[in-house]
Amino acid sequence: MLDACFLGPYGENDSLLEKLVTEFLRDHVYWRRNFHPEDPPAIPTDAAVDPGYRAFEARLRRELHALSASLKKSVPFHSPRYIGHMASDLLLPGLAAQILTLPYNPNNVSEDAAPVTVDMEVDVGLQLARMVGYPHDPAIDRCAFGHLTSGGTVANYQAMRLALALKAFPVALRAAGVPDLGVPDDDWAAFNLGPAAGTELVARWTAWLAAHSPRERAAWNARVQAERIEQRGLCDFFAAHPTLKTPWVLAPITAHYSWSKGMKLLGLGRAQLRLMPERDMRLDIEALHETIGDCERERQPVLMAVGVFGTTEYGTVDPIDGLVAARDAALSRGLGFTVHVDAAWGGYLATLFRNEDGSLRARDEVARGFAHFPSPGVHAATAALAESDSITIDPHKLGYLPYGAGAFVCRDHRAMTLLSESADYVFHDNAARSYRARYRNLGQFIPEGSKPGANVAAVYVTHKVLPLDHAHFGCLPARTVRSAEAFHQAAGAFASRMHPLVRSIVPFPPDSNLVCVAFNPAGNRDLGVANAFVRRLHDQLRVDPGAPLQDRSFFGSVTTLRPQALGEAGMRRILDELSLDAATDGDAEDHLVILRHTLMNPWLIDDRNGISYIDMYFQYLEQRIGGLLAGT
Ligand SMILES: *Cc1c(COP(=O)(O)O)cnc(C)c1O
Repeated sequence: MLDACFLGPYGENDSLLEKLVTEFLRDHVYWRRNFHPEDPPAIPTDAAVDPGYRAFEARLRRELHALSASLKKSVPFHSPRYIGHMASDLLLPGLAAQILTLPYNPNNVSEDAAPVTVDMEVDVGLQLARMVGYPHDPAIDRCAFGHLTSGGTVANYQAMRLALALKAFPVALRAAGVPDLGVPDDDWAAFNLGPAAGTELVARWTAWLAAHSPRERAAWNARVQAERIEQRGLCDFFAAHPTLKTPWVLAPITAHYSWSKGMKLLGLGRAQLRLMPERDMRLDIEALHETIGDCERERQPVLMAVGVFGTTEYGTVDPIDGLVAARDAALSRGLGFTVHVDAAWGGYLATLFRNEDGSLRARDEVARGFAHFPSPGVHAATAALAESDSITIDPHKLGYLPYGAGAFVCRDHRAMTLLSESADYVFHDNAARSYRARYRNLGQFIPEGSKPGANVAAVYVTHKVLPLDHAHFGCLPARTVRSAEAFHQAAGAFASRMHPLVRSIVPFPPDSNLVCVAFNPAGNRDLGVANAFVRRLHDQLRVDPGAPLQDRSFFGSVTTLRPQALGEAGMRRILDELSLDAATDGDAEDHLVILRHTLMNPWLIDDRNGISYIDMYFQYLEQRIGGLLAGT
């Protein structure tokens, strides 16, 4: 099945893509003509013989040739020799759907500008909700809701916006003196209601409003609006509620830098982003409990705790199950916060854990066909996604789709009304508006305004052609996880083979399809020397705009291991295994530079040609290392 999924490393499926593009381009042209066929062509049929037209065409061709020529320096994401960053070939259904949709140019800001693709966007949200185990039937009250964003960065930002709106809303209801709703009777309790009870309160409030006359409704709404954090701004809001402090966001130290950007953008301030230590590159739940305990004692509110499902640097999976348990335990002690999962990278791995009927697969079922995957921790973390409050998933990463496609999904859509630019519940009878009707005005809820419908079509069609379960889409991540296991094994063989020349280890077992390898030339004990060695190794693995692509045998990437992330003991273990001394105060560097490999390409192990690009890569490394150590 995978044979037809991509254009292919060699452009093998060129005629399929060409056929589809031509067919649907013609189809688009007929659509234009048949709109009002009685209208004559506005551009005369002989316009093409005009010298000005021909001069324009000549310029156009020249510039397109120049563009096309310069694009030949692009990064060859399609090749199995590319194992660097989180990019690979594009799924053909998505590519074709996107090209097909482009000339219609739908704008998913609202149904007025995108009558078709706005509905598809709502469907994509439901498809992703199903993949992670959220309620996905719009007929039920507490259905999930999701939408696309330009990427994971903006999806994470949207998560913070929603969490803050939900956290601060009960405080506004209290300040406005809204009766009858069971709002907690002090600010601290109102601010710590937690996402589930907070959402129920929002639902009670909208129902309560709906029961009033339009005039009373508008008056109450104005009173509440005036008290909301979005209206007052952080400064005034916290000045008016002196028992409350600006809340913290707790995220693992491996969190993507979009979290720091989001804190700045939202005005919470980066100082409120508290980075939690890791144990074996996964969030240390005990340390999280300790921090939460400190927050309780010091009355420091927490906005959300973030878990990463597939870290950008290492592909590791945080214990989401531990995170939701910590949330529930803290709530029972009066400290409420949201759990958000940043699955920008790893989200689509969840397909491996879904049956076609949407149910969760047991660990031993998933494990068939793999050597180690999934670890009990990864299975438990995946099962717990269903209990998180919101999640970020990037179709443009492990979804193999063109850039400009991230996604935000929240478990209970009823909180979304708090993000709406105009108070949609005031003027419409909320109950009378269907789920779909509400979200057709997408621009009301999203951080962006105008946004492409074409990449929504790409995601939607891909999910229809390859449903998000293990039997369909799951074949793709299954292949990449198998590649990672083969890579891990090959790294072990390489280490034994190279032992006289270089120490090399996989510093921690991979959770998914990213594998890192650390090196140290034999006899060396100095961290700085080892790092310089790996940087030189990487010099031949990185994109160099000044050098021809073909000079490169492979593309890889680098990352670092820091004691802050690994803990002192974890760092010492890795340095010991590499026969390296720990950095001392006088040393310039305390981190270890390592090679990072993202194994996304489905053709890394090419059985039909009897080629393993993984084996070739390690042979290449062997040769390079030999050369480097011999001083060439
Ligand atoms: C890539 C990534 C992001 C950011 O996503 P963009 O699509 O690049 O904006 C956020 N979090 C994680 C874990 C990621 O891997």
